[in-house]
Amino acid sequence: MHKRLFIPGPVEVSKEVLQKMSTPMIGHRTKDASNLQRSISEKMRKLMYTESEILLSTSSGSGLMEGAIRSCTRKRAAVFSIGAFGDRWHKMAATNGVPADKFSSEPGKPTTPEMVDEVLSTGKYDLITITHNETSTGVMNPVEEIAEVMKKYPEVVYCLDAVSSLGGTKIEVDKLGVDICITSTQKCLGLPPGMAICSFSEKAVEAAKQVQFRGVYLDLLDLYNYIKKKDYQYPSTPSLSHMFALDYQLDRILEEGLENRFARHSEMAGYVRSWAKEKFDLFPEEKYASNTVTAIKNTRNIDVGALNKKLGEAGYMISDGYGDLKGVTFRIAHMADTQPEEIKKLLSIIDGILFEN
Ligand SMILES: *Cc1c(COP(=O)(O)O)cnc(C)c1O
Repeated sequence: MHKRLFIPGPVEVSKEVLQKMSTPMIGHRTKDASNLQRSISEKMRKLMYTESEILLSTSSGSGLMEGAIRSCTRKRAAVFSIGAFGDRWHKMAATNGVPADKFSSEPGKPTTPEMVDEVLSTGKYDLITITHNETSTGVMNPVEEIAEVMKKYPEVVYCLDAVSSLGGTKIEVDKLGVDICITSTQKCLGLPPGMAICSFSEKAVEAAKQVQFRGVYLDLLDLYNYIKKKDYQYPSTPSLSHMFALDYQLDRILEEGLENRFARHSEMAGYVRSWAKEKFDLFPEEKYASNTVTAIKNTRNIDVGALNKKLGEAGYMISDGYGDLKGVTFRIAHMADTQPEEIKKLLSIIDGILFEN
């Protein structure tokens, strides 16, 4: 039996989108391929509220995270980590020989604008990375406040990991001053895993031009140059299947209406949060609780594995805590095409398993 996924990626994918994945192939050096990529880029710009160029990568989101820090750090990167995905970004820098320092917050706590200001005021850094929505702890960072601080540092390239939030909550890339906003297909966009997307500002282009060793496959400047020189084509062979599906899914997202889509995510987050507060507790401070995934503190010390096994028998799946937070927390994702009714149903089934017998 198929288990409906309430995990923070991969998510449930609609039948229509799955069907688009099986569109017959076209040549990747054809006018049709250019038109497909251009169409995706135009729609992604709306979703990201940006005028910047859009880059596609046939990799998961991690590919563009690695590509961004490697391609655009000239001097030194400041990596702000609030959990597993921030830590991963620092590891990517370290293992690529990119000079970087990590500034961590305690699990469940955000990156504060004060932290960013203090670090950047040293003048040591020309690139920062921020995790918009830390999937391991369910924290959504205060990016509007961080944007205010960033205005003081116009020379710093701002990279934002929006892998588990873009498409589920409003991220106004240009207004926030983000140079590289990264996401991937298998979370709030509601597609199968296998493709990543980012915005790439002129400032990021100029920074990358000054970096000598950018690699090949994840060289963001190479992806950008191909778009400009080859009319929206991709340097190697992209996952055309994802591109067909993404182009179609972006139409559906725009048809739903961005404000409606974000409101639906808030509504679902509201249900899960109230349930969590009533039956358990929230892991992060409520002010920073994510709109796309809720991390619940396991105050009753339930056996999350056993709960998930029972849920599986009913055709559902949620997530245990991530890494060290396994068992201490568990997570329910409310992202992509999931409907509020489905969340209510899931919560009532969990109640049935945990509290009624
Ligand atoms: C899932 C996730 C990633 C990694 O993305 P992949 O597409 O699996 O490579 C990075 N950051 C965050 C916040 C995520 O949730």
